[in-house]
Amino acid sequence: MKIHAIQTGTVALTTSWREGVGHGRRRLLNTLVDREWTEPLPIYAFAIEHPEGVIVVDTGETARVAEPGYFPRWSPFFRFAVRERVEREQEIGPQLERLGIGPSDVRWVVMTHLHTDHAGGLRHFPNNEILVSRTEMDYAAGLRGRLRGYVNRPWPEWFDPTLLELPPVELGPFPASLPLTQAGDVTLVPVPGHTPGQLGVIVEDGGHSILLAGDSSYTEDAMLRGAADGVGADEDAERLTHERIRAYAAATPTVYLPSHDPETAVRLAERRPIGTVRERAAA
Ligand SMILES: [Zn+2]
Repeated sequence: MKIHAIQTGTVALTTSWREGVGHGRRRLLNTLVDREWTEPLPIYAFAIEHPEGVIVVDTGETARVAEPGYFPRWSPFFRFAVRERVEREQEIGPQLERLGIGPSDVRWVVMTHLHTDHAGGLRHFPNNEILVSRTEMDYAAGLRGRLRGYVNRPWPEWFDPTLLELPPVELGPFPASLPLTQAGDVTLVPVPGHTPGQLGVIVEDGGHSILLAGDSSYTEDAMLRGAADGVGADEDAERLTHERIRAYAAATPTVYLPSHDPETAVRLAERRPIGTVRERAAA
Protein backbone atom coordinates (compact mmCIF):
# COMPACT_ATOMS: atom_id res chain seq x y z
CA MET A 1 0.00 0.00 0.00
CA LYS A 2 1.37 3.38 -0.90
CA ILE A 3 1.51 5.81 2.01
CA HIS A 4 2.67 9.40 1.63
CA ALA A 5 4.10 11.49 4.45
CA ILE A 6 3.11 15.04 3.51
CA GLN A 7 5.09 17.75 5.26
CA THR A 8 3.03 20.91 5.70
CA GLY A 9 5.69 23.26 6.98
CA THR A 10 7.50 23.23 10.30
CA VAL A 11 6.95 23.92 13.97
CA ALA A 12 9.63 24.80 16.51
CA LEU A 13 8.80 24.23 20.17
CA THR A 14 10.53 24.89 23.44
CA THR A 15 12.47 21.77 24.38
CA SER A 16 10.42 21.25 27.53
CA TRP A 17 7.31 21.19 25.35
CA ARG A 18 8.75 18.36 23.25
CA GLU A 19 9.65 16.49 26.41
CA GLY A 20 8.05 17.49 29.71
CA VAL A 21 10.08 18.76 32.67
CA GLY A 22 8.46 18.36 36.10
CA HIS A 23 4.85 17.47 36.76
CA GLY A 24 1.43 19.05 37.02
CA ARG A 25 1.18 22.84 36.66
CA ARG A 26 4.95 23.21 36.92
CA ARG A 27 5.33 21.09 33.79
CA LEU A 28 3.08 23.45 31.79
CA LEU A 29 4.86 26.55 33.10
CA ASN A 30 8.24 25.09 32.22
CA THR A 31 7.25 25.00 28.54
CA LEU A 32 6.72 28.78 28.69
CA VAL A 33 9.85 29.87 30.52
CA ASP A 34 12.17 27.56 28.62
CA ARG A 35 14.59 29.58 26.47
CA GLU A 36 15.82 26.58 24.54
CA TRP A 37 14.13 25.70 21.27
CA THR A 38 13.99 22.58 19.15
CA GLU A 39 15.08 22.83 15.54
CA PRO A 40 12.12 23.41 13.18
CA LEU A 41 10.26 20.09 13.31
CA PRO A 42 8.18 18.75 10.45
CA ILE A 43 4.38 18.95 10.57
CA TYR A 44 3.21 15.76 8.86
CA ALA A 45 -0.13 14.73 7.48
CA PHE A 46 -0.53 11.41 5.63
CA ALA A 47 -2.32 10.01 2.62
CA ILE A 48 -2.92 6.26 2.34
CA GLU A 49 -3.65 5.06 -1.20
CA HIS A 50 -6.07 2.29 -0.24
CA PRO A 51 -8.07 0.25 -2.80
CA GLU A 52 -11.27 1.49 -1.09
CA GLY A 53 -10.23 5.11 -1.58
CA VAL A 54 -7.59 7.48 -0.30
CA ILE A 55 -7.50 7.88 3.47
CA VAL A 56 -6.08 11.21 4.60
CA VAL A 57 -4.83 11.24 8.19
CA ASP A 58 -4.67 14.77 9.63
CA THR A 59 -4.62 17.88 7.47
CA GLY A 60 -1.46 19.62 8.64
CA GLU A 61 -1.15 23.36 9.13
CA THR A 62 -2.31 26.37 7.12
CA ALA A 63 -0.17 29.19 5.68
CA ARG A 64 -2.50 31.59 7.49
CA VAL A 65 -0.41 31.12 10.65
CA ALA A 66 1.79 33.92 9.25
CA GLU A 67 -1.11 36.41 9.38
CA PRO A 68 -0.85 38.78 12.32
CA GLY A 69 -3.46 37.94 14.92
CA TYR A 70 -4.10 34.48 13.55
CA PHE A 71 -3.24 33.06 16.95
CA PRO A 72 -4.92 34.75 19.89
CA ARG A 73 -2.66 37.11 21.85
CA TRP A 74 -3.99 35.81 25.15
CA SER A 75 -2.57 32.36 24.63
CA PRO A 76 0.89 32.33 26.22
CA PHE A 77 1.69 29.06 24.49
CA PHE A 78 1.29 30.52 21.01
CA ARG A 79 3.15 33.67 22.05
CA PHE A 80 6.09 32.12 23.84
CA ALA A 81 6.46 28.44 23.07
CA VAL A 82 5.55 27.72 19.40
CA ARG A 83 6.83 29.04 16.07
CA GLU A 84 5.28 27.73 12.88
CA ARG A 85 6.27 28.29 9.26
CA VAL A 86 4.04 27.20 6.41
CA GLU A 87 4.12 28.32 2.77
CA ARG A 88 0.93 28.22 0.67
CA GLU A 89 2.21 25.47 -1.57
CA GLN A 90 3.06 23.38 1.52
CA GLU A 91 -0.60 23.13 2.51
CA ILE A 92 -2.09 19.68 2.08
CA GLY A 93 -4.46 20.60 -0.81
CA PRO A 94 -1.76 21.60 -3.31
CA GLN A 95 0.45 18.73 -2.17
CA LEU A 96 -2.27 16.10 -2.76
CA GLU A 97 -2.86 17.62 -6.18
CA ARG A 98 0.82 17.25 -7.03
CA LEU A 99 0.53 13.57 -6.02
CA GLY A 100 -2.37 13.23 -8.46
CA ILE A 101 -4.94 12.85 -5.67
CA GLY A 102 -8.09 14.93 -6.24
CA PRO A 103 -10.73 15.79 -3.62
CA SER A 104 -13.13 13.13 -4.92
CA ASP A 105 -10.45 10.44 -4.56
CA VAL A 106 -10.46 10.96 -0.79
CA ARG A 107 -12.77 8.49 0.96
CA TRP A 108 -12.12 9.58 4.55
CA VAL A 109 -10.22 12.23 6.45
CA VAL A 110 -9.27 10.84 9.86
CA MET A 111 -8.26 13.39 12.50
CA THR A 112 -5.89 12.00 15.15
CA HIS A 113 -6.80 15.10 17.16
CA LEU A 114 -7.85 18.70 16.52
CA HIS A 115 -4.83 20.80 17.51
CA THR A 116 -4.14 23.60 15.04
CA ASP A 117 -1.19 21.92 13.31
CA HIS A 118 -3.37 18.90 12.53
CA ALA A 119 -6.62 20.70 11.70
CA GLY A 120 -5.18 23.74 9.87
CA GLY A 121 -5.74 22.16 6.45
CA LEU A 122 -9.40 21.20 7.00
CA ARG A 123 -10.61 23.82 4.53
CA HIS A 124 -9.24 21.65 1.71
CA PHE A 125 -11.88 19.00 2.45
CA PRO A 126 -15.31 20.69 2.39
CA ASN A 127 -16.99 17.72 0.69
CA ASN A 128 -15.27 14.81 2.37
CA GLU A 129 -16.30 12.73 5.36
CA ILE A 130 -14.19 13.77 8.33
CA LEU A 131 -13.82 11.44 11.30
CA VAL A 132 -13.08 12.63 14.85
CA SER A 133 -13.49 10.82 18.14
CA ARG A 134 -16.44 12.08 20.17
CA THR A 135 -14.17 12.48 23.20
CA GLU A 136 -11.82 14.70 21.19
CA MET A 137 -14.64 16.85 19.84
CA ASP A 138 -16.14 17.34 23.31
CA TYR A 139 -12.75 18.32 24.71
CA ALA A 140 -11.88 20.69 21.86
CA ALA A 141 -15.17 22.50 21.37
CA GLY A 142 -16.27 25.89 22.64
CA LEU A 143 -14.58 28.33 24.97
CA ARG A 144 -13.23 25.56 27.19
CA GLY A 145 -11.61 24.03 24.15
CA ARG A 146 -10.01 27.37 23.25
CA LEU A 147 -8.59 27.68 26.75
CA ARG A 148 -7.20 24.18 26.44
CA GLY A 149 -5.16 25.24 23.42
CA TYR A 150 -7.55 24.48 20.58
CA VAL A 151 -7.49 27.81 18.90
CA ASN A 152 -10.50 26.74 16.81
CA ARG A 153 -10.09 29.42 14.16
CA PRO A 154 -8.86 26.90 11.61
CA TRP A 155 -12.22 25.11 11.79
CA PRO A 156 -14.27 26.04 8.75
CA GLU A 157 -17.92 27.01 9.17
CA TRP A 158 -19.12 23.81 7.53
CA PHE A 159 -17.11 21.64 9.92
CA ASP A 160 -19.46 18.90 11.11
CA PRO A 161 -17.41 15.73 11.50
CA THR A 162 -18.66 12.20 11.99
CA LEU A 163 -18.11 11.52 15.70
CA LEU A 164 -16.68 8.13 16.56
CA GLU A 165 -16.89 6.04 19.68
CA LEU A 166 -14.53 3.10 19.49
CA PRO A 167 -16.22 -0.11 20.67
CA PRO A 168 -14.46 -2.11 23.43
CA VAL A 169 -13.02 -4.58 20.95
CA GLU A 170 -9.42 -5.28 21.91
CA LEU A 171 -6.67 -5.07 19.35
CA GLY A 172 -3.64 -6.53 21.10
CA PRO A 173 -2.91 -4.21 24.04
CA PHE A 174 -5.36 -1.53 22.81
CA PRO A 175 -8.62 -1.84 24.78
CA ALA A 176 -10.81 -0.55 21.94
CA SER A 177 -10.65 -0.49 18.16
CA LEU A 178 -12.68 0.27 15.06
CA PRO A 179 -11.88 -1.13 11.61
CA LEU A 180 -12.19 1.63 9.03
CA THR A 181 -11.91 -0.34 5.80
CA GLN A 182 -14.04 -3.27 4.62
CA ALA A 183 -10.78 -5.16 4.16
CA GLY A 184 -10.08 -4.69 7.87
CA ASP A 185 -6.53 -3.58 7.21
CA VAL A 186 -6.90 -0.02 8.50
CA THR A 187 -8.00 0.24 12.13
CA LEU A 188 -8.48 3.14 14.53
CA VAL A 189 -7.24 2.72 18.10
CA PRO A 190 -7.30 5.05 21.11
CA VAL A 191 -3.96 6.70 21.97
CA PRO A 192 -5.02 9.10 24.74
CA GLY A 193 -2.68 11.30 26.75
CA HIS A 194 -1.56 14.20 24.55
CA THR A 195 -5.32 14.75 24.23
CA PRO A 196 -8.02 12.55 25.81
CA GLY A 197 -9.62 11.59 22.50
CA GLN A 198 -6.57 11.15 20.32
CA LEU A 199 -6.80 8.37 17.70
CA GLY A 200 -4.04 6.29 16.19
CA VAL A 201 -4.38 4.70 12.74
CA ILE A 202 -2.93 1.22 12.25
CA VAL A 203 -2.34 0.12 8.66
CA GLU A 204 -1.56 -3.58 8.23
CA ASP A 205 0.52 -4.06 5.13
CA GLY A 206 2.42 -7.21 4.17
CA GLY A 207 3.43 -8.68 7.53
CA HIS A 208 4.04 -5.41 9.33
CA SER A 209 1.98 -2.56 10.71
CA ILE A 210 2.31 1.15 10.31
CA LEU A 211 1.07 3.29 13.18
CA LEU A 212 0.17 6.87 12.35
CA ALA A 213 0.41 8.04 15.91
CA GLY A 214 -0.52 11.73 15.90
CA ASP A 215 1.26 13.37 18.83
CA SER A 216 1.47 10.25 21.01
CA SER A 217 5.06 11.40 21.42
CA TYR A 218 7.27 13.80 19.50
CA THR A 219 9.90 11.15 18.74
CA GLU A 220 10.14 7.36 18.68
CA ASP A 221 12.84 7.57 21.31
CA ALA A 222 10.55 9.43 23.74
CA MET A 223 7.87 6.76 23.25
CA LEU A 224 10.41 3.97 23.91
CA ARG A 225 11.52 5.70 27.12
CA GLY A 226 7.94 6.49 28.17
CA ALA A 227 8.72 10.22 28.32
CA ALA A 228 5.59 12.39 28.24
CA ASP A 229 5.53 15.75 26.42
CA GLY A 230 5.24 19.09 28.25
CA VAL A 231 1.68 20.05 27.31
CA GLY A 232 -0.32 16.84 27.02
CA ALA A 233 -3.65 16.60 28.83
CA ASP A 234 -2.65 13.59 30.95
CA GLU A 235 0.95 12.48 31.49
CA ASP A 236 0.02 9.11 32.97
CA ALA A 237 -2.33 8.32 30.10
CA GLU A 238 0.45 9.29 27.71
CA ARG A 239 2.83 6.80 29.36
CA LEU A 240 0.19 4.08 29.31
CA THR A 241 -0.27 4.73 25.59
CA HIS A 242 3.51 4.40 25.12
CA GLU A 243 3.39 1.08 26.98
CA ARG A 244 0.62 -0.20 24.74
CA ILE A 245 2.45 0.85 21.60
CA ARG A 246 5.59 -0.96 22.78
CA ALA A 247 3.54 -4.08 23.58
CA TYR A 248 1.83 -3.95 20.18
CA ALA A 249 5.19 -3.54 18.43
CA ALA A 250 6.66 -6.48 20.37
CA ALA A 251 4.04 -8.76 18.80
CA THR A 252 3.89 -7.19 15.32
CA PRO A 253 6.75 -5.37 13.57
CA THR A 254 5.50 -1.78 13.62
CA VAL A 255 6.68 1.35 11.86
CA TYR A 256 5.98 4.19 14.30
CA LEU A 257 5.13 7.51 12.67
CA PRO A 258 4.39 10.44 14.98
CA SER A 259 3.55 13.75 13.32
CA HIS A 260 6.63 15.79 14.27
CA ASP A 261 9.48 13.28 14.37
CA PRO A 262 12.28 14.33 11.96
CA GLU A 263 12.79 10.58 11.28
CA THR A 264 9.17 9.86 10.33
CA ALA A 265 9.52 10.18 6.53
CA VAL A 266 12.68 8.10 6.31
CA ARG A 267 11.24 5.40 8.58
CA LEU A 268 8.17 5.24 6.34
CA ALA A 269 10.29 5.10 3.17
CA GLU A 270 12.40 2.27 4.60
CA ARG A 271 9.47 0.65 6.45
CA ARG A 272 11.80 0.53 9.43
CA PRO A 273 10.08 -1.01 12.48
CA ILE A 274 10.40 0.15 16.07
CA GLY A 275 13.52 -1.09 17.78
CA THR A 276 15.58 -1.74 14.67
CA VAL A 277 18.65 0.32 14.09
CA ARG A 278 19.03 2.11 10.84
CA GLU A 279 21.52 0.37 8.58
CA ARG A 280 24.65 2.40 8.14
CA ALA A 281 26.78 2.39 5.04
CA ALA A 282 30.26 1.05 5.82
CA ALA A 283 32.71 3.88 6.32
ZN1 LIG B 1 -1.06 18.04 19.23
